[in-house]
Amino acid sequence: MKTFAEFGLEPKVLQAITELGFEESTPIQDKSIPFAMLGRDLIGQAQTGTGKTAAFGIPLINKIPVSEDRIVALIMTPTRELAIQVADEIGKLTRYKGLRSLPIYGGQEIGRQIRALKKRPQIIIGTPGRLLDHINRKTIRLEDVQTVVLDEADEMLDMGFMEDIQSILKLVPEERQTMLFSATMPINIQKLAQQFLKDPEHVSVIPKQVTAPSIEQSYIEVHERQKFEALSRLLDMESPELAIIFGRTKRRVDELSEALQKRGYSADGLHGDLSQNQRDSVMRKFRDGSIDVLVATDVAARGLDVSGVTHVINFDLPQDPESYVHRIGRTGRAGKEGTAWSFVTPREIDHLHFIERITRQRMNRKPLPSIAEAIEGKQRLTAERMLEVVQNEEFSEYKPIAIQLLEQYDSVHLLAAAIKLLTGEKKDVSIELTPEEPLRAKKRRPDIRSNGRPFNRTGGGSSYGGNRSGGTSGGGGYRGRDDRRSSGGSGSGSRGGYGSSSGSGYGSKRSSSEGRSGGESRRPKSSDDYANN
Ligand code: ADP
Ligand code: MG
Repeated sequence: MKTFAEFGLEPKVLQAITELGFEESTPIQDKSIPFAMLGRDLIGQAQTGTGKTAAFGIPLINKIPVSEDRIVALIMTPTRELAIQVADEIGKLTRYKGLRSLPIYGGQEIGRQIRALKKRPQIIIGTPGRLLDHINRKTIRLEDVQTVVLDEADEMLDMGFMEDIQSILKLVPEERQTMLFSATMPINIQKLAQQFLKDPEHVSVIPKQVTAPSIEQSYIEVHERQKFEALSRLLDMESPELAIIFGRTKRRVDELSEALQKRGYSADGLHGDLSQNQRDSVMRKFRDGSIDVLVATDVAARGLDVSGVTHVINFDLPQDPESYVHRIGRTGRAGKEGTAWSFVTPREIDHLHFIERITRQRMNRKPLPSIAEAIEGKQRLTAERMLEVVQNEEFSEYKPIAIQLLEQYDSVHLLAAAIKLLTGEKKDVSIELTPEEPLRAKKRRPDIRSNGRPFNRTGGGSSYGGNRSGGTSGGGGYRGRDDRRSSGGSGSGSRGGYGSSSGSGYGSKRSSSEGRSGGESRRPKSSDDYANN
């Protein structure tokens, strides 16, 4: 680890870094920045949350002269959310130097972007689909671009952006610096790098210990139909400040967030089918604390940088260990303590052990919280809230009535009644969720994506719309045609990378349960649809 002063950066860039509160560089920054500053092409691999944005952002910003008035840097990201996040960080890093950067993504009115482009930004951060739109309209020209960054490259390829990226890169002058960053390095990324990077320096930070030790991991064995009851008890017992609950499919997320709302929790759901406005609004509510439970699919939650998540709950186990690590990594950030819980159905126990083996982490088996524990948890939370009010002395206008009541009734009785009211009795609404099929650890399917085509962009793609992991082959009863749309494709998720001898071990990736299905549902109407994922 170095201090940023050791990189020989411009004082104004250094000042911005200091302002951001970065004390020392992260390992990926440590390794990337010196090469990037030499103008070298770069392939950088590190997990989510390791500071890759600044790893390419700092050298990029350092090298652009303030007097520049052409687009000289292009950063591509898979989603609108990430484009905004990256633009945000780049904006902060350029604060003192005074460069202009602009995010370009689908879903935002194009006229507005065209007006913003007239202010002559030097740095564009965009999703491939919308970038191509601008390029075709000639509102963005790439002929002066000197630096290209492919951020979250694995994610971009997973979303089917290969062709778009290739078309864009062909329009950038060959004399340029290209940097590619990715959490994983599947074969298609390596191919892309071979095609577009020149003698790249590989830098990677692959943690031996894949999970942070400050995350306590537990699991509860439950039957599929007990899961919701288990979840409400767990939430009551733990009363998390901020929790993310992972469901396997979009349908699951919808049903679960609705069910939680019906039971009186302040919850909302996030998945790739929501409009961008809906997504933004959910994220805003979660960040400002007006909801404290976020239900999400893997894809929707990936890359989101939310701090203060105290609990991650795997309502459904993820297909692959890497997803598990990504999921639980949403908590316990910045050295704070986090807790991860997983629900495991009896038939998934093998799969759980498989995850434990690969991540080299043990999960503690815990019993289903009892009703008493749940009630106690809720009461404790209510009591804590009351004490907070007491400490802040925010109650003077309630004093007269309190005094009146105390003249007539016993103080313990009064207080107990008040706590009862505040705790709120659980709304007794019956909840019925569509069951998910259990995951199996063994009999994994061959890696369907190894042909380099993540999914079929033109055809029906029916070949793997069906059963998830080769487990119960007759499981058709659960999955109607509709499921296929929301979840079916994750059969491809097994992707033998972990156990297989052929795989690099990193060739495989989380099996998100959304957006991996066969052709027709996955194929966007326009490439902008991707940006909304
Ligand atoms: P990645 O792209 O690897 O997932 P990000 O670039 O989004 O990670 O960074 C994750 C978080 O860490 C961001 O909030 C970022 O501001 C912060 N961060 C980046 N570099 C540092 C650093 N050197 N010190 C402290 N925080 C950092
Ligand atoms: Mg990133």
